[in-house]
Amino acid sequence: MKILSVNAGSSSLKFQLYEMPEEKVLISGTFERIGIDNGIYTIKINGEKIKKDANLTNHSVCVDILIKELINYKVIKNLDEIKGVGHRLVHGGDRYNKSVIIDDEVIKNVKELIPLAPLHNPANLIGVEAFKKAVPKAIQVGCFDTAFHQTMDEDNYLYAVPYEWYTKYGVRKYGFHGMSHKYVSSRAAELLGRKFCNIIVCHLGSGGSISAVRDGKCIDTSMGFTPNAGIVMGSRCGDIDYSIIPYIMKVTKMTLEEVDTILNKKSGMYGISGISSDFRDIEAKISERDHRAILAHHLFVDSVVDYIARYYVELGGCDCLCFTAGVGENSPHVRRMIIDRLSALGIKINRQLNEEMRFGKEGLISASNSSVPVYVIPTDEEVMIARDTYSLINNK
Ligand code: ADP
Repeated sequence: MKILSVNAGSSSLKFQLYEMPEEKVLISGTFERIGIDNGIYTIKINGEKIKKDANLTNHSVCVDILIKELINYKVIKNLDEIKGVGHRLVHGGDRYNKSVIIDDEVIKNVKELIPLAPLHNPANLIGVEAFKKAVPKAIQVGCFDTAFHQTMDEDNYLYAVPYEWYTKYGVRKYGFHGMSHKYVSSRAAELLGRKFCNIIVCHLGSGGSISAVRDGKCIDTSMGFTPNAGIVMGSRCGDIDYSIIPYIMKVTKMTLEEVDTILNKKSGMYGISGISSDFRDIEAKISERDHRAILAHHLFVDSVVDYIARYYVELGGCDCLCFTAGVGENSPHVRRMIIDRLSALGIKINRQLNEEMRFGKEGLISASNSSVPVYVIPTDEEVMIARDTYSLINNK
C-alpha cells in the first residue's frame, strides 16, 4: 500500500512516499519558497537528487507538481494507488493524544487551536486542503506533534499561574517534537530489548527538546506552552525569566511583537554567538577560539545537562540516554561536552564510538563501564506518520 507522509509549513512542503508495511521510501522531496519568488523543489529517487526551479505560487501548485512527478518517475501509474496521506499537524492541544483520520470535525478542532499555534496550524491545514483536492480518494490522517506528550501528569504540565488560565485559556505545557520522541524512545526500548524502562531522549536540532519517557509514555518534556521553552536552541532563548520582556520593552521602546520575534529568531545560539543559529558555523568559530562561540556552546550544553539531570531524578534513574536530530546525530563535540558533564551520574563516553556515530549511523557511544548506555538514534518522524496512517487505514 502506498502512503504519502507530508510536512507542510508556511513556505515549504516536505514529502516521502512509502510502500507500506515494508516502510520502503519510494521517492521523497521538498518544495521550498512557496508563495515567494525563486521557488525550487528537490526530488530524491533511486539515490539520485534532482533540483528544479518552478513558480510555486501556493501549496496546491506544489501538490499538482508532486503528483505529475510521481507519474513522470513511474512511481505510480495513477492516483488511486495512493491510499493514504499522513500529515504532520503541530498542535492538537489536549484534544488529541494520538493520530486520527481527518474529517470535518478534526479540521474544525485544528482551526480552533490556531491561537495556540498561529504559524504552524494554518500552514498544516493548507497542506491538508491541497491534498484533499488533489487525491480525493486517499484517506487523510493527522499526526500531532503534541500527542505523545498528552500522557504527562498535571503536576508536570501545569504552570504555577492562576488555575483559571489553564481552565479558561488552555495555558499549560503541551510539548512538541512528539513523533520524534516517540520514535526514538521506542527504538531505544527495542535496542535495550525491554518494554518497561526509563529513557531520556535529547532531540537536538535547530529547535530542541528533551523528554523523560517511562514504559513508552512521556512523563515530562522541556518544551512548554509553545516550542520556545526549555533548552537553549539555534535561535530561540529557551527558559528565561519572563520579567526580562517588560523590562526590555521599557528600556528599548520595542513593541511586544518585536521582543517576541527577537526571543524566537535572534536569541539562543545566534543571540549569544552573534554568528549563526547553525551549530556548524559556531563549531567552526570555536576552533578559532572565538569567545562568544565558546560561550554559546557552554550555555547550550548547560541547559541540556540541567534537563537530563532533572529527568534522571524525576524518572528515579534511567536505563538509556539517547541523542537525535541534526545536532544530536551529527555533532560528536556537543555530545562529548554533554556526557563529560554527566560523570556525577556515572555516565561515561566511549570517545572513538562517539566520533564514529554520525551522518545517519545508529549505535552505542557510551563506555562499557558507563552507568547508563548512551545511544545515537537518527530520528524518523516521516516513518511514524506513515505507520500511523497505515494502521488507521487498516483498522478503519
Ligand atoms: P530542524 O528540523 O529543527 O530544522 P534539524 O534536526 O534538521 O533541525 O537540525 C538542524 C541543525 O543541525 C542545523 O541547524 C545544524 O546546527 C545542526 N547540524 C547539522 N549537521 C551538523 C553537523 N555535522 N555538525 C554540527 N551540527 C550539525
